[in-house]
Amino acid sequence: MDSARVRERMVALLARQGVSDPQVLAAMGRVERHRFVDSALANQAYEDTSLPIGLGQTISKPGVVARMLELLREPWVGSGQPLGRVLEIGTGCGYQAAVLSALAGEVYSMERLRGLHEKARENLRPFRLANLHLLLGDGMAGYPKGAPYAAIIAAAGGEALPTTWIDQLAPGGRLVAPVCQPNGAQALTVVDKTPTGIVQRFLEPVLFVPLKSGVA
Ligand code: SAH
Repeated sequence: MDSARVRERMVALLARQGVSDPQVLAAMGRVERHRFVDSALANQAYEDTSLPIGLGQTISKPGVVARMLELLREPWVGSGQPLGRVLEIGTGCGYQAAVLSALAGEVYSMERLRGLHEKARENLRPFRLANLHLLLGDGMAGYPKGAPYAAIIAAAGGEALPTTWIDQLAPGGRLVAPVCQPNGAQALTVVDKTPTGIVQRFLEPVLFVPLKSGVA
């Protein structure tokens, strides 16, 4: 597969969908998404669809990954400051973690399913990303050892945001996660830890796998 060409087309589509952060587009253009899915699905890797990655989980659509990473970086764009330490909940196959590692100083990525944690480790080995740390554990508790985080991103949605995530966010930090609304549907949520308190916004509807507790 001439994957650079198909990635260019994917990036052009993301830009048409409204993603404008050049660093997010560049990172999405570099990371070879086909290396994170089963070889039988590799030919669909650059379409804007979610795909199964085993154990009932899915790799998010490129459009959703780009949208969330753009929201995550927004407070730092134009500030001249780099995005520092980031916590990702739900490593899955490791794709979004690889894109994040190009955008942040340090990335801690946590997965509760041992099978996927190990798969991600294997998928990511050839990329040799020294600033990416894979962790096996229940992300509901966050990862206090790496806190405080400039940003936290979750790829699984629960009924409410765990308060530990807000606690582990640095002042000025931002959280992007899917959260269930009272009507049961998930919405993309952005939480900012501002000097005057927590500011939460609900954006468009999304569909993520459920946030579950415990390690399995
Ligand atoms: N970003 C991933 C998407 C994976 S899907 C990728 O690029 O592939 C979401 C993942 O969140 C699943 O693998 C699921 O097992 C995991 N997950 C759900 N609840 C979790 C929790 N409490 N802690 C850590 N991971 C969790």
